[in-house]
Amino acid sequence: MYRITRKLFLSQIVLLAGCRSKTVEAQPSSEGPVSMAYLARLYSMRMTTEGKKVVLRNKWNSIEIETDSRRAWVNGTMIWLHHPCRKDGRGWVIQEVDFKKGIDPILRSYAYLAGRMPRLVVLDPGHGGSDTGAIGPSKLYEKNVVLDISRRVQAHLESQKIAVRTTRSGDSFPSLQQRSDYAYKVSADLFISIHADGAGDPSASGVETFITTAAGCDSSNHYGQSGDKTEQRNNQYDAANAVLGFSIQSNLLRNAKRSDRGLRRARFSVIKNAPCPAALVECGFVTNPAEESLLNSADYREAVARGISNGIIGYLTMVKRTRR
Ligand SMILES: [Zn+2]
Repeated sequence: MYRITRKLFLSQIVLLAGCRSKTVEAQPSSEGPVSMAYLARLYSMRMTTEGKKVVLRNKWNSIEIETDSRRAWVNGTMIWLHHPCRKDGRGWVIQEVDFKKGIDPILRSYAYLAGRMPRLVVLDPGHGGSDTGAIGPSKLYEKNVVLDISRRVQAHLESQKIAVRTTRSGDSFPSLQQRSDYAYKVSADLFISIHADGAGDPSASGVETFITTAAGCDSSNHYGQSGDKTEQRNNQYDAANAVLGFSIQSNLLRNAKRSDRGLRRARFSVIKNAPCPAALVECGFVTNPAEESLLNSADYREAVARGISNGIIGYLTMVKRTRR
């Protein structure tokens, strides 16, 4: 089995420690909004208002939710809610889908990760061949950056005795369907697609991680097709996706030290069709001159790869603890 560093181990365990120390109350039984006051009781947190945020905090964990907004932060890492935090007769509330498929799995992963230990990680370096992906102002190609980062992630995972396969190992271009089919064929237990961002605005910057949008909900911001609320095969892993995506995004931030664009939701083909918990990582903007320079450097690629690897290992650690 893999070995984890003490620092990584502690960073993952703090979530569990904070939430396991008390008797867990039943989750709300009826569908509908969940009040912040309920969350404060459930997690034994003190609730305060700080500017436009409702903040819940105990000695281990914090939840900050921006009012009339979809932005929230768990232990400092941003997550995008499916629906804005609104005020009703019970005070500020979030929708149940964001509690059950976002915040609660992240804070109480042990209640959601039962099952067999994941054995095979499939890495999916985006684009390839005639599909360059995003192109930087100095002509850096996304397809080349993400292949190198993927190889580094593979090396880190394999050094911990974690089995890895990849959807491409050279400059080829498997279709999106072929990438999903490959994950099925090899019985992937985790699927991680690796990309770098592109935008018309050269100032756009930062890192972000996507997981499949919950059924019945719209995707984050301008991503995904507006109005698409369909259920996808990957939705059976909604809770595990949240744990995995949060672990990757928080470790990516810690290592890459770029601005936090958050854990987001989209119905991207490769993740919505994945046969297992899945995430798509955007490692920075090729189209931002400063980030293009970083993405062209071995040091930054290594930091990003370390973040993604630690995120995956953190997830596996939580699954392993759940099975004890
Ligand atoms: Zn891409």
